[in-house]
Amino acid sequence: MATWQCVKNCGACCQLSPSDRPELADYLSADDLAGYLSMVGADGWCIHYDQITRECTIYETRPSFCRVTAETFQAMFDIEPEALDEFAIDCCQQQIAGVYGDDSLEMSRFNQAIAEPQIDS
Ligand code: SF4
Ligand code: SF4
Repeated sequence: MATWQCVKNCGACCQLSPSDRPELADYLSADDLAGYLSMVGADGWCIHYDQITRECTIYETRPSFCRVTAETFQAMFDIEPEALDEFAIDCCQQQIAGVYGDDSLEMSRFNQAIAEPQIDS
């Protein structure tokens, strides 16, 4: 079974345009929704996202809704821990397709990464 992982130089999930995420209020608390909306830049990208390096500039203190953990996904989407990989992979693929396209390099790199055996560090 594929194991979810984030790939460097993607950043698709940091494109936050609310128009592309009509169900935000269904899974974010009122406080988190307000925090989310406060991060949306004029071009839809998160104001904390460096579009040159494709990195989060507040990575260590990023909000909980930016973190792919069993706890956050259970809280937001009612996903059981054993279903996290499949659900998170689907989320990433949807977001990457929407931002970069189905045939993008980013999609290829993501699909390759999740297909590779994981090495514990
Ligand atoms: S869409 Fe997925 S792979 Fe891309 S930056 Fe976000 S979490 Fe990482
Ligand atoms: S806070 Fe960081 S991880 Fe979250 S959307 Fe913004 S740039 Fe991406």
